[in-house]
Amino acid sequence: MDDELLEVLTGAGVPATLFLNLRWITANPRVVERLAADPLFELANHGSRHLPMSVDGRSAYGIGGTRSAAEAVDEVWENHEALTSITGSPPRWFRSGTAHYDEVATKVAVALGEQPVGFTTNGDFGATASSDQVRAQLMAAPAGGIVIAHMNQPGSGTAAGVAAAVTDLRASGVDFVTLGAGGGTRV
Ligand SMILES: [Zn+2]
Repeated sequence: MDDELLEVLTGAGVPATLFLNLRWITANPRVVERLAADPLFELANHGSRHLPMSVDGRSAYGIGGTRSAAEAVDEVWENHEALTSITGSPPRWFRSGTAHYDEVATKVAVALGEQPVGFTTNGDFGATASSDQVRAQLMAAPAGGIVIAHMNQPGSGTAAGVAAAVTDLRASGVDFVTLGAGGGTRV
C-alpha cells in the first residue's frame, strides 16, 4: 500500500475509484476495511488473479490471459464475491489486470453485472514514472478523462506527482469524481 498516495488523496479530499485485485485484498484485509469505510472512495473489481481477460489465453505485456470463458468468469466472479462481502454491495466496475480484454471477455463481465472500464490517461506507467512525469500526465488529461495510477507501489513517483497535479488542477477549476459519481453508465 502506498500510504503516501492515500494521504495525498484523503488530505486533499480527492475522490477515487480504487480497483482492487483479490490477491491484494487477501494480503491487506485491514487496509481494505479502512478503504471500504471511507466515503471518499469507491471500491471496484481488478480481477481475481490479475490476468488479461480473454477466452483463449491471449497475453498482454507477457502475462498470459485467462484461457477459457470459465476462467474469464472466475477472474470476475471470485473477486466480485469478495468485494460484495466486504462492502455489502456488488462492485459496479471491472478493470482486468493489464486493462486488456477480448470481445467475449468484456461480454462476460457485463453478463456478471459489472461494467468493463478502460482509461484515457496512463498516470504513472505502471508506477515507473518520476513525479514530474506523473504530474505532466495528469495535467494533460482531457476533461472527463479517466486517469489510472498505482496505489500498490510505495516509493514510486506517483504520490508526489499526484499531489503536485491536484494542486495545479484544482487551481484551474478541475474537480475530481469517482466513476460512479461521474455518471458512468450502468450495465
Ligand atoms: Zn493492476
